Amino acid sequence: MERRNTRQRQLVLEAVQELCDHPTADEIYLRVREQDDHISRGTVYRNLHLLADTGEILSVKTPGGERFDRRMDHHAHLVCSECGTVIDVPMSKQDDFCRQIERSTGYASVSTSTILTGVCPACQERLRKAAGAEQR
Ligand SMILES: [Zn+2]
Ligand SMILES: [Zn+2]
Repeated sequence: MERRNTRQRQLVLEAVQELCDHPTADEIYLRVREQDDHISRGTVYRNLHLLADTGEILSVKTPGGERFDRRMDHHAHLVCSECGTVIDVPMSKQDDFCRQIERSTGYASVSTSTILTGVCPACQERLRKAAGAEQR
């Protein structure tokens, strides 16, 4: 049983690494199913959260739902409010800010995670075309 668990966990981790574009749990489930058609959705979800807890992957809570990320270095996420695409954007670590919050609140291990929203170039194009079509 233990061996099967380890293998499933490995499959889930590999799927997140292959689907480098912030996959949803469902997308990861479908990818893992290609490797192991006996694996259940619940098993995939459980392993995703295990991997996030142990810091092997990152869980990103976006307005459109939870995504998973193989990148563990500090970065912000830019989410398209139209289609839900998530991209990475560089962001400096706000260590000074966090330490200041720790001092003023007494909390420990304060960190930030940033979600920015906007409209991606593809959606801008689509919206512009839709607006143009309406005018005609
Ligand atoms: Zn978009
Ligand atoms: Zn990311």
